[in-house]
Amino acid sequence: MELKYYFDYNATTPTDPRVVDEMRAYFSDNFHNPSSFYRRAGEADYAVETAREKIAKLVNAESREIFFTAGGTESDNLAVQGTAYQLKEKGNHIITSQIEHPAILKTCKHLEKNGFEVTYLPVDKNGFVNPEHLIESIKDTTILISIMHANNEIGTIQPIKELAAIAHGKGVLFHTDAVQSTGKIPVDVKELDVDLMSFSSHKIYGPKGVGGLYKKAKVKITPIIFGGGHEKGLRAGTENIHGIVGMGKAAELALLEMAQEEKTLRALRDRLQKEILAKIPEVIVNGDTDKRLYNTLNVSIKYIEGESILAMLDQQGFALSSGSACSSKSLDPSHVLLAIGLKHEDAHGSLRISLGKYNTAEDVEKLIEALPPVVERLRSMSPFWKGSDGPG
Ligand SMILES: *Cc1c(COP(=O)(O)O)cnc(C)c1O
Repeated sequence: MELKYYFDYNATTPTDPRVVDEMRAYFSDNFHNPSSFYRRAGEADYAVETAREKIAKLVNAESREIFFTAGGTESDNLAVQGTAYQLKEKGNHIITSQIEHPAILKTCKHLEKNGFEVTYLPVDKNGFVNPEHLIESIKDTTILISIMHANNEIGTIQPIKELAAIAHGKGVLFHTDAVQSTGKIPVDVKELDVDLMSFSSHKIYGPKGVGGLYKKAKVKITPIIFGGGHEKGLRAGTENIHGIVGMGKAAELALLEMAQEEKTLRALRDRLQKEILAKIPEVIVNGDTDKRLYNTLNVSIKYIEGESILAMLDQQGFALSSGSACSSKSLDPSHVLLAIGLKHEDAHGSLRISLGKYNTAEDVEKLIEALPPVVERLRSMSPFWKGSDGPG
């Protein structure tokens, strides 16, 4: 069955055709290595630097503070490991949150096996880190605090400016994983005053396999990939020029079109939420309904399995997610939903609907039509469901 209705933009996005057009020249025509000496190499180098400027503009950084990587995962690894190795003489303690992306959580687990100590801050029922908890958990040995900007599963947007100020008050570096927020909402590194910030291309209609790290000019970290002197020695390897050019174009388009997209998608998401709550009894909306990404809706539909809903919707051409894409192949409930206090069974019954710029009002109406009968059918087979008056 052809996929008709894509509602999984937080997992990845299709590359914007305008981005593909921009990339095309850098495969066979200008394929040159930007580090070489001939004229065409200079053009490739110029293309990389132009992309760097576009990305810097999107996040209000200087272009020399932007470093290219192979994606959000690598940027998170570079920020966390790079800081840990750089500052290991100063201390070995890192603070993060329980709802981070696996790119942060598993990097921290790795560091724990190698002599570092990590505090995983809990979050409240809406997914917020408590600033008081953060203050209390900082020690003399703390070298890094890494808290994500917007959560990929529930969309909650953390008060990064406030959290970064707490870190700096104690002389600690602050990193944020802004993969879900950069290009969707205004992200200004000067305003947030973060030291390090990760972003990725394929969540904002750019190609996959390219991303970047913002690093404040005066902050020093250790590379984790060694080789040639690319990216001022911070990230070796011949630049992914077509990818970088694509991400640059995606950043340029995001800056121009973000405000309009927010208006459209917020209205579609809000309609979806309202209709789901009206048409399906016993549904919980997960995450903060105010400080939340405008494209994201995460709901727990009680008494049934999210996986079963996905399978039935998939047959009708709908693509969405239960929990996060990275863990949906496993049957463990989402660590994010457990951290906001959901019971295992409610976490299992969760759906993540994430919208993007190619969704239409018609797509949303189709989903509003398709979901209630699927839920009704599954609930009728569920031993826990005893009719619309609620559980028996
Ligand atoms: C997608 C995602 C990542 C990983 O980015 P990749 O470019 O896919 O490696 C990291 N953090 C968050 C919050 C994400 O949503």
